[in-house]
Amino acid sequence: MHAKRISMPPTPLDLCERSPAYVRAIAPYQPGKPITELAREMGLDEARIVKLASNENPLGISPRARAAVGAALAELARYPDGFDLAKAIGARLGVPIEAVVLGNGSNDVLEMVASAFLAPGRAAVFSAHAFAVYALATQARGARSIVVPAKDWGHDLPAMLGAITPETRVVFIANPNNPTGTMVAAEALEAFLRRVPRDVVVVLDEAYNEYLAPELRCPSVAWLERHANLVVTRTFSKAYGLAGLRVGYALCHPEVAALLNRVRQPFNVNNLALVAAIAALDDESFVAQSYALNVAGMTRLTDGFRRLGLD
Ligand SMILES: *Cc1c(COP(=O)(O)O)cnc(C)c1O
Repeated sequence: MHAKRISMPPTPLDLCERSPAYVRAIAPYQPGKPITELAREMGLDEARIVKLASNENPLGISPRARAAVGAALAELARYPDGFDLAKAIGARLGVPIEAVVLGNGSNDVLEMVASAFLAPGRAAVFSAHAFAVYALATQARGARSIVVPAKDWGHDLPAMLGAITPETRVVFIANPNNPTGTMVAAEALEAFLRRVPRDVVVVLDEAYNEYLAPELRCPSVAWLERHANLVVTRTFSKAYGLAGLRVGYALCHPEVAALLNRVRQPFNVNNLALVAAIAALDDESFVAQSYALNVAGMTRLTDGFRRLGLD
Protein backbone atom coordinates (compact mmCIF):
# COMPACT_ATOMS: atom_id res chain seq x y z
CA MET A 1 0.00 0.00 0.00
CA HIS A 2 1.36 3.38 -1.01
CA ALA A 3 0.31 6.59 0.69
CA LYS A 4 -1.03 9.43 -1.47
CA ARG A 5 1.89 11.46 -2.86
CA ILE A 6 2.15 14.89 -1.30
CA SER A 7 2.95 17.85 -3.53
CA MET A 8 5.63 20.34 -2.49
CA PRO A 9 5.05 24.10 -2.51
CA PRO A 10 7.41 26.30 -4.52
CA THR A 11 10.38 27.35 -2.34
CA PRO A 12 10.38 31.02 -1.37
CA LEU A 13 12.98 32.71 -3.56
CA ASP A 14 15.33 33.38 -0.69
CA LEU A 15 15.04 30.08 1.25
CA CYS A 16 17.97 28.21 -0.25
CA GLU A 17 19.86 31.45 -0.73
CA ARG A 18 20.06 31.60 3.06
CA SER A 19 22.36 28.60 3.00
CA PRO A 20 25.95 29.90 3.13
CA ALA A 21 27.42 30.50 -0.32
CA TYR A 22 30.22 28.03 0.49
CA VAL A 23 27.67 25.27 1.05
CA ARG A 24 25.81 26.06 -2.15
CA ALA A 25 29.11 25.95 -4.04
CA ILE A 26 29.88 22.36 -3.02
CA ALA A 27 29.99 19.87 -5.89
CA PRO A 28 28.55 16.73 -4.26
CA TYR A 29 30.73 13.62 -3.93
CA GLN A 30 30.12 11.34 -6.91
CA PRO A 31 30.21 7.76 -5.70
CA GLY A 32 31.00 5.00 -8.18
CA LYS A 33 27.85 3.76 -9.89
CA PRO A 34 26.30 0.84 -7.99
CA ILE A 35 26.57 -2.52 -9.78
CA THR A 36 22.81 -3.04 -9.61
CA GLU A 37 22.18 0.27 -11.39
CA LEU A 38 24.70 -0.45 -14.13
CA ALA A 39 23.25 -3.92 -14.63
CA ARG A 40 19.77 -2.45 -14.98
CA GLU A 41 20.90 0.32 -17.34
CA MET A 42 22.95 -1.88 -19.64
CA GLY A 43 21.03 -5.14 -19.30
CA LEU A 44 24.10 -6.92 -17.90
CA ASP A 45 24.50 -9.81 -15.51
CA GLU A 46 25.48 -8.38 -12.11
CA ALA A 47 27.77 -11.30 -11.40
CA ARG A 48 29.93 -10.37 -14.40
CA ILE A 49 30.50 -6.75 -13.41
CA VAL A 50 33.73 -5.86 -11.61
CA LYS A 51 33.55 -2.50 -9.88
CA LEU A 52 36.87 -0.84 -9.26
CA ALA A 53 35.82 2.73 -8.46
CA SER A 54 35.51 2.56 -4.70
CA ASN A 55 38.33 0.16 -3.83
CA GLU A 56 36.00 -2.29 -2.14
CA ASN A 57 37.43 -5.63 -1.03
CA PRO A 58 36.92 -8.28 -3.74
CA LEU A 59 37.00 -10.99 -1.05
CA GLY A 60 33.91 -9.53 0.57
CA ILE A 61 33.46 -9.44 4.34
CA SER A 62 35.69 -11.30 6.79
CA PRO A 63 33.90 -14.53 7.80
CA ARG A 64 34.49 -13.76 11.47
CA ALA A 65 32.96 -10.32 11.08
CA ARG A 66 29.99 -11.83 9.31
CA ALA A 67 29.39 -14.26 12.15
CA ALA A 68 29.67 -11.46 14.69
CA VAL A 69 27.08 -9.40 12.81
CA GLY A 70 24.67 -12.34 12.80
CA ALA A 71 25.07 -12.83 16.53
CA ALA A 72 24.53 -9.13 17.25
CA LEU A 73 21.22 -8.80 15.41
CA ALA A 74 19.25 -9.58 18.55
CA GLU A 75 20.76 -6.57 20.32
CA LEU A 76 19.78 -3.92 17.81
CA ALA A 77 17.16 -2.34 20.04
CA ARG A 78 20.04 -0.94 22.11
CA TYR A 79 22.07 2.16 21.31
CA PRO A 80 25.69 1.36 20.49
CA ASP A 81 28.66 1.77 22.82
CA GLY A 82 32.07 2.10 21.18
CA PHE A 83 34.10 1.28 24.27
CA ASP A 84 34.99 -2.31 23.38
CA LEU A 85 36.16 -1.46 19.87
CA ALA A 86 38.20 1.52 21.04
CA LYS A 87 39.74 -0.71 23.68
CA ALA A 88 40.53 -3.44 21.14
CA ILE A 89 42.13 -0.93 18.74
CA GLY A 90 44.07 0.63 21.60
CA ALA A 91 45.37 -2.73 22.77
CA ARG A 92 46.28 -3.82 19.24
CA LEU A 93 48.22 -0.65 18.47
CA GLY A 94 49.54 0.20 21.92
CA VAL A 95 47.71 3.49 22.36
CA PRO A 96 45.52 4.61 25.27
CA ILE A 97 41.79 4.33 24.69
CA GLU A 98 41.53 8.13 25.10
CA ALA A 99 43.60 8.45 21.93
CA VAL A 100 41.08 6.52 19.79
CA VAL A 101 38.12 8.27 18.14
CA LEU A 102 35.67 6.06 16.26
CA GLY A 103 33.98 7.21 13.08
CA ASN A 104 31.15 6.18 10.80
CA GLY A 105 33.85 5.29 8.31
CA SER A 106 37.12 7.20 8.50
CA ASN A 107 35.34 9.76 6.31
CA ASP A 108 33.39 10.71 9.43
CA VAL A 109 36.65 11.28 11.32
CA LEU A 110 37.93 13.54 8.52
CA GLU A 111 34.71 15.55 8.85
CA MET A 112 35.20 15.78 12.63
CA VAL A 113 38.70 17.18 12.17
CA ALA A 114 37.27 19.76 9.76
CA SER A 115 34.45 20.66 12.19
CA ALA A 116 36.84 20.99 15.09
CA PHE A 117 39.54 23.06 13.39
CA LEU A 118 38.18 24.71 10.23
CA ALA A 119 35.85 27.68 9.80
CA PRO A 120 35.53 30.71 7.53
CA GLY A 121 38.83 32.60 7.55
CA ARG A 122 40.86 29.42 8.05
CA ALA A 123 42.48 27.13 5.52
CA ALA A 124 43.44 23.51 4.87
CA VAL A 125 46.39 22.41 2.76
CA PHE A 126 46.24 19.27 0.63
CA SER A 127 47.64 17.96 -2.63
CA ALA A 128 46.12 18.04 -6.09
CA HIS A 129 44.70 14.57 -6.92
CA ALA A 130 44.37 13.78 -3.20
CA PHE A 131 41.33 12.04 -1.72
CA ALA A 132 38.20 14.00 -2.74
CA VAL A 133 36.81 14.29 0.78
CA TYR A 134 39.48 16.77 1.95
CA ALA A 135 38.14 19.46 -0.35
CA LEU A 136 34.53 18.68 0.55
CA ALA A 137 35.13 18.74 4.31
CA THR A 138 37.06 21.99 4.02
CA GLN A 139 34.50 23.72 1.86
CA ALA A 140 31.58 22.64 4.06
CA ARG A 141 33.12 24.68 6.92
CA GLY A 142 33.63 27.75 4.76
CA ALA A 143 37.39 27.36 5.02
CA ARG A 144 39.76 27.87 2.10
CA SER A 145 41.38 24.95 0.28
CA ILE A 146 45.05 25.45 -0.52
CA VAL A 147 45.65 22.87 -3.22
CA VAL A 148 49.33 22.16 -3.81
CA PRO A 149 50.34 20.93 -7.29
CA ALA A 150 51.27 17.26 -7.30
CA LYS A 151 54.74 15.95 -8.05
CA ASP A 152 54.77 12.74 -10.10
CA TRP A 153 51.06 12.44 -9.26
CA GLY A 154 51.83 12.37 -5.54
CA HIS A 155 52.26 14.65 -2.54
CA ASP A 156 55.01 17.26 -2.85
CA LEU A 157 55.74 17.58 0.86
CA PRO A 158 58.26 20.45 0.66
CA ALA A 159 55.79 22.43 -1.46
CA MET A 160 52.98 21.57 0.97
CA LEU A 161 55.11 22.82 3.85
CA GLY A 162 55.74 26.04 1.94
CA ALA A 163 52.01 26.43 1.27
CA ILE A 164 51.09 26.59 4.96
CA THR A 165 49.82 30.09 5.77
CA PRO A 166 49.11 31.68 9.16
CA GLU A 167 45.40 30.82 8.76
CA THR A 168 46.15 27.16 7.91
CA ARG A 169 44.83 24.85 10.62
CA VAL A 170 44.88 21.46 8.93
CA VAL A 171 47.05 19.59 6.44
CA PHE A 172 45.59 16.44 4.88
CA ILE A 173 47.92 13.72 3.58
CA ALA A 174 46.70 10.45 2.06
CA ASN A 175 49.38 7.79 2.29
CA PRO A 176 49.02 5.85 0.07
CA ASN A 177 46.84 8.21 -1.90
CA ASN A 178 43.51 7.49 -3.57
CA PRO A 179 43.02 7.85 -6.53
CA THR A 180 46.63 8.12 -7.75
CA GLY A 181 48.12 5.25 -5.73
CA THR A 182 51.24 7.22 -4.85
CA MET A 183 52.94 7.17 -1.48
CA VAL A 184 55.55 9.15 0.39
CA ALA A 185 58.35 7.47 2.31
CA ALA A 186 58.43 7.45 6.09
CA GLU A 187 61.61 9.57 6.30
CA ALA A 188 60.10 12.30 4.15
CA LEU A 189 56.93 12.32 6.22
CA GLU A 190 58.81 12.44 9.46
CA ALA A 191 60.91 15.35 8.21
CA PHE A 192 57.67 17.08 7.25
CA LEU A 193 56.17 16.50 10.70
CA ARG A 194 59.24 17.96 12.35
CA ARG A 195 58.92 21.17 10.34
CA VAL A 196 55.16 21.78 10.37
CA PRO A 197 54.10 24.51 12.83
CA ARG A 198 53.05 22.77 16.01
CA ASP A 199 49.63 24.43 16.00
CA VAL A 200 48.69 22.95 12.61
CA VAL A 201 46.93 19.57 12.65
CA VAL A 202 48.43 17.01 10.27
CA VAL A 203 45.94 14.33 9.23
CA LEU A 204 47.73 11.25 7.99
CA ASP A 205 45.07 9.23 6.18
CA GLU A 206 46.21 5.61 6.15
CA ALA A 207 43.11 4.00 4.64
CA TYR A 208 45.33 1.58 2.72
CA ASN A 209 47.94 0.93 5.39
CA GLU A 210 47.19 -2.80 5.58
CA TYR A 211 47.91 -3.16 1.86
CA LEU A 212 51.46 -1.87 2.19
CA ALA A 213 54.40 -4.23 2.41
CA PRO A 214 55.43 -4.21 6.08
CA GLU A 215 58.74 -2.47 5.29
CA LEU A 216 56.87 0.38 3.58
CA ARG A 217 54.53 1.11 6.49
CA CYS A 218 55.20 4.29 8.43
CA PRO A 219 55.75 4.07 12.19
CA SER A 220 52.87 6.54 12.40
CA VAL A 221 51.60 5.28 15.75
CA ALA A 222 55.04 5.80 17.31
CA TRP A 223 55.10 9.33 15.84
CA LEU A 224 52.14 10.18 18.08
CA GLU A 225 54.59 10.16 20.98
CA ARG A 226 56.45 13.12 19.53
CA HIS A 227 53.80 15.00 17.56
CA ALA A 228 50.74 16.19 19.47
CA ASN A 229 49.39 17.69 16.22
CA LEU A 230 49.31 14.35 14.37
CA VAL A 231 45.98 12.63 13.62
CA VAL A 232 46.32 9.19 12.04
CA THR A 233 43.15 7.86 10.38
CA ARG A 234 42.46 4.27 9.40
CA THR A 235 39.45 2.33 8.22
CA PHE A 236 37.79 -1.06 8.24
CA SER A 237 36.37 -0.37 4.76
CA LYS A 238 39.24 -1.60 2.63
CA ALA A 239 41.49 -4.50 3.70
CA TYR A 240 38.99 -5.54 6.40
CA GLY A 241 36.11 -5.63 3.90
CA LEU A 242 33.53 -3.67 5.91
CA ALA A 243 32.83 -0.70 3.60
CA GLY A 244 29.06 -1.12 3.86
CA LEU A 245 29.04 -1.05 7.63
CA ARG A 246 30.92 2.28 7.88
CA VAL A 247 33.58 2.12 10.56
CA GLY A 248 36.95 3.80 10.84
CA TYR A 249 38.97 5.58 13.48
CA ALA A 250 41.46 8.28 14.36
CA LEU A 251 44.48 7.96 16.61
CA CYS A 252 45.60 11.24 18.13
CA HIS A 253 46.56 13.10 21.26
CA PRO A 254 43.83 12.64 23.91
CA GLU A 255 43.23 16.41 24.04
CA VAL A 256 42.68 16.49 20.28
CA ALA A 257 40.48 13.39 20.63
CA ALA A 258 38.42 15.25 23.24
CA LEU A 259 37.84 18.03 20.70
CA LEU A 260 36.84 15.56 18.00
CA ASN A 261 34.44 13.94 20.44
CA ARG A 262 32.71 17.28 20.95
CA VAL A 263 31.72 17.44 17.32
CA ARG A 264 31.13 13.70 16.97
CA GLN A 265 27.52 12.58 16.74
CA PRO A 266 26.57 10.50 19.74
CA PHE A 267 26.23 6.83 18.68
CA ASN A 268 27.92 7.54 15.34
CA VAL A 269 29.09 3.93 14.85
CA ASN A 270 26.29 1.38 14.88
CA ASN A 271 26.14 -1.91 16.81
CA LEU A 272 26.75 -4.15 13.81
CA ALA A 273 29.73 -2.13 12.66
CA LEU A 274 31.25 -2.24 16.15
CA VAL A 275 31.03 -6.01 16.59
CA ALA A 276 32.13 -6.63 13.01
CA ALA A 277 35.18 -4.41 13.45
CA ILE A 278 36.18 -6.14 16.68
CA ALA A 279 35.94 -9.52 14.97
CA ALA A 280 37.70 -8.29 11.81
CA LEU A 281 40.58 -6.92 13.85
CA ASP A 282 41.29 -10.47 15.03
CA ASP A 283 40.79 -12.07 11.63
CA GLU A 284 44.43 -11.94 10.65
CA SER A 285 44.10 -14.60 8.00
CA PHE A 286 41.45 -12.55 6.17
CA VAL A 287 43.64 -9.44 6.16
CA ALA A 288 46.59 -11.56 4.99
CA GLN A 289 44.46 -12.90 2.11
CA SER A 290 43.35 -9.38 1.19
CA TYR A 291 46.97 -8.28 1.21
CA ALA A 292 48.13 -11.17 -0.97
CA LEU A 293 45.29 -10.74 -3.47
CA ASN A 294 46.04 -7.03 -3.73
CA VAL A 295 49.75 -7.61 -4.32
CA ALA A 296 48.90 -10.09 -7.08
CA GLY A 297 46.43 -7.66 -8.68
CA MET A 298 48.81 -4.74 -8.41
CA THR A 299 51.62 -6.73 -10.00
CA ARG A 300 49.37 -7.81 -12.85
CA LEU A 301 48.21 -4.24 -13.48
CA THR A 302 51.61 -2.61 -13.22
CA ASP A 303 53.11 -5.24 -15.55
CA GLY A 304 50.32 -4.56 -18.04
CA PHE A 305 50.71 -0.79 -17.77
CA ARG A 306 54.45 -1.11 -18.31
CA ARG A 307 53.86 -3.12 -21.48
CA LEU A 308 51.46 -0.43 -22.68
CA GLY A 309 54.10 2.21 -21.98
CA LEU A 310 51.90 3.92 -19.39
CA ASP A 311 53.39 5.85 -16.50
C1 LIG B 1 38.23 4.88 1.16
C2 LIG B 1 39.05 5.98 1.72
C3 LIG B 1 38.75 6.62 2.92
C4 LIG B 1 37.53 6.48 3.73
O1 LIG B 1 36.83 5.38 3.71
P1 LIG B 1 35.74 5.11 4.82
O2 LIG B 1 34.93 4.06 4.19
O3 LIG B 1 34.99 6.36 5.09
O4 LIG B 1 36.50 4.67 6.03
C5 LIG B 1 39.58 7.59 3.39
N1 LIG B 1 40.68 7.94 2.73
C6 LIG B 1 41.02 7.37 1.58
C7 LIG B 1 42.26 7.81 0.91
C8 LIG B 1 40.20 6.38 1.02
O5 LIG B 1 40.51 5.87 -0.16
